[in-house]
Amino acid sequence: MTAEKVTFAAYLVAALLFILSLAGLSRHETSRRGVLLGMAGMGVAVLATLVLQHPSGLGLVLLVVAVLVGAAVGLWRARVVEMTGMPELIALLHSFVGLAAVLVGWNGYLEDPGLTGSLLGIHHGEVVVGVFIGAVTFTGSIVAFLKLSARIPSAPLMLPGKNALNLGALVVFVALTVWFVVSPSLWLLAVVTVLALALGWHLVASIGGGDMPVVVSMLNSYSGWAAAASGFLLDNNLLIVTGALVGSSGAYLSYIMCQAMNRSFISVIAGGFGIEAPSGEATDYGEHRETSAAEVAELLRDASSVVITPGYGMAVAQAQYPVADLTAKLRERGVDVRFGIHPVAGRLPGHMNVLLAEAKVPYDIVLEMDEVNDDFDATDVVLVIGANDTVNPAAAEDPASPIAGMPVLEVWHAKNVVVFKRSMASGYAGVQNPLFFRDNSAMLFGDAKDRVEDILRAL
Ligand code: NDP
Repeated sequence: MTAEKVTFAAYLVAALLFILSLAGLSRHETSRRGVLLGMAGMGVAVLATLVLQHPSGLGLVLLVVAVLVGAAVGLWRARVVEMTGMPELIALLHSFVGLAAVLVGWNGYLEDPGLTGSLLGIHHGEVVVGVFIGAVTFTGSIVAFLKLSARIPSAPLMLPGKNALNLGALVVFVALTVWFVVSPSLWLLAVVTVLALALGWHLVASIGGGDMPVVVSMLNSYSGWAAAASGFLLDNNLLIVTGALVGSSGAYLSYIMCQAMNRSFISVIAGGFGIEAPSGEATDYGEHRETSAAEVAELLRDASSVVITPGYGMAVAQAQYPVADLTAKLRERGVDVRFGIHPVAGRLPGHMNVLLAEAKVPYDIVLEMDEVNDDFDATDVVLVIGANDTVNPAAAEDPASPIAGMPVLEVWHAKNVVVFKRSMASGYAGVQNPLFFRDNSAMLFGDAKDRVEDILRAL
């Protein structure tokens, strides 16, 4: 059997491992196995590619050095990253895929492919599409990284005529593609690259903080399509299959996230198409009321039902362990304690579930938003621990709010709401929260972990 046949057989095995990996990742119980299968698939893919390409001399040295440096940086980042920093790391990794696709595209143009006639035209089409998708993914992911790591504000950029700008860029791209296929030139490819870099930047900059979870999965999808485009250029079937798997699963995840958050999929992928700029006028919601740990302990002593709605602040404070202790203590006293988890609470899908599982909170009292939303009327106390956007009544009540229509945990229906946070600052979406000013709400200021420990002591 030739090396080529062995490689293709290995590619088939790798593709199957990737499909099994995706299947494994779709459920908590099998997700570890999913990751291991993905790693095995990638190991087979890299080895098979080495066999097929059999690099030697300087090429081999460069390849080994690149793999070693990449592996060392990857291992180091994966070890030190905090869970709250995961989305920004993922966004950064997507940007590398985009950049790689741009470089592969440019290389595809600069290197003589040895083709003629219509095959050469198809090759140039692949070059321009690969560069375009890669460049949009590259800058889009960089903006997502900057927004998620709070290096730039998460509020949407509202350039005048932003929808026309995005649409115009697409029309120009189609025209340039045709031009490039008919008469390829270096400067034309440079124009397409700059146009795509600007479009990627603008698309993600125009999307508000509340829609960032969808943007991250959308960029995941784009990075898959960028890889698939590189696969066509490099004539590598495995890259095409893997890119298509990532691209389609990312697109489907974005779609179901949009449905869960009542957002228009088209609007989000088109850079917030149809979303108007907020009026900028701050609403006066009146005065908020402060409370103390001792008062909250008193409230909990008299409660028979408690719902805890955690958010990003619980992850920052690492408050899940005292929260688990408080839960156990209240349950010992016969209080009905449950958790209400919003699908985008924290900074990555399933963030809160992972933290609570880490602190050994029993699964059966951790409920999804839809399972708990009708029960708030009959709840004595809701403890909002470091959550903000996900419990914001403006989403349900103010049609002019940037997060209008997003389903939220309707905690304000409970008899008492205690909000744990450090200040009156807004949440990730940058929207003020009228919950803090309701008559049945009280603010417990300070680090969430310290305050929960204070309550435990007082109890
Ligand atoms: P938010 O980000 O809306 O708010 C978190 C709150 O926690 C802040 O208001 C902050 O207030 C408080 N906080 C921060 N640190 C502490 C601390 N140490 N102790 C106590 N409080 C603290 O959180 P939510 O979970 O409600 O909402 C998630 C947001 O993130 C949504 O807008 C979502 O769209 C977005 N997002 C979600 C992603 C996902 O996949 N889940 C990915 C990307 C974005 P203060 O500073 O006053 O303490």
